[in-house]
Amino acid sequence: IAFTGKDFGFDSVNGLLEKAAYARREIKENYEKEYRIFDESLNRKIIKEKKIESCIRSGFANNEFCVVYQPKISLTTEKVVGAEALVRWNSEKIGKVLPDEFIPIFERNGSIASLDFFVYEEVFKFLHDSIEKNLPVVPISVNMSRFHANSVDFVEKFDQLIKKYEIPSNLIEVEILERSVSNGTSSLRSIIDGLHERGFKVSMDDFGVGESSLTMLDTIPVDTLKIDKNFLREENDWERTKRIIVKIVELAKDLKKSVVCEGVENKAQVEFLNSINCDVAQGFFYSKPLNPKEFSEFLTEKGC
Ligand code: C2E
Ligand code: MG
Ligand code: MG
Repeated sequence: IAFTGKDFGFDSVNGLLEKAAYARREIKENYEKEYRIFDESLNRKIIKEKKIESCIRSGFANNEFCVVYQPKISLTTEKVVGAEALVRWNSEKIGKVLPDEFIPIFERNGSIASLDFFVYEEVFKFLHDSIEKNLPVVPISVNMSRFHANSVDFVEKFDQLIKKYEIPSNLIEVEILERSVSNGTSSLRSIIDGLHERGFKVSMDDFGVGESSLTMLDTIPVDTLKIDKNFLREENDWERTKRIIVKIVELAKDLKKSVVCEGVENKAQVEFLNSINCDVAQGFFYSKPLNPKEFSEFLTEKGC
């Protein structure tokens, strides 16, 4: 709902429709809310988003994006068994912006395709350099936005880029989001099959927060489940959460998938996850996301 008039400011019909559509988008994935009124807080949000959007082009031109690596640790050996590549943006015009703030905007206007491929290339370059310098390497996982789920040449482009840097496919894993799955499974399925044929592993990111987590287990052939970090939030009822996580790990093991838990922040969580045979943990308890140099040092220090 959007209002117009002397108390709200005057809008054209198009302006009003745009505001109402924006309010609707805000509650699209929230089934508890039946309506949303376009108010001052949404107006501020729209202004911020437009500002972010207007900085994207110069962001690419000025090389403002970079990639950091968050280690993944084996719960049995405590060694580093991988890392996730995460993008960072330090904009000259608007300062540091968080991925949760800018990724949805990039997804809406399509810039995410360039950003994701920028990240892939940075990761492949980093692995290439590390191999050349005889530094330790571990498999790196990269995020695939839901935007690519409808792309016919994603796998081909991905494969060509990795060949350019001569990286073995077993050093790369692709994390897909559950949300990409609810948009329709057939094109995503062919992407996953294509990645598997070329030797890449695929994991399901943020498992347990979407609407279709269980049906997708049946239809989308991933190798690994990444349990969403929200399960480990402090305000949760820890005893109840533990029961849910136990069952997720059991189910994954039954289906011959490995399990990573993200957002691990303390020792009690590590001990619990280890006791229920969860394979791998990722989170601030072990390390925050690190720049390439820090990450190589971490690998040398911790062992892999
Ligand atoms: P994600 O893929 O689930 O990444 C994990 C997020 O959890 C990261 O947030 C990471 O910094 C954060 N995190 C790690 N350990 C902890 C912890 O112990 N506690 C808590 N509370 N959080 C932790 P980040 O880097 O802000 O990224 C947020 C999301 O943005 C990512 O979630 C991913 O969906 C998206 N994203 C990040 N980089 C990329 C990218 O290159 N491409 C695409 N398509 N999406 C990306
Ligand atoms: Mg991820
Ligand atoms: Mg995640």
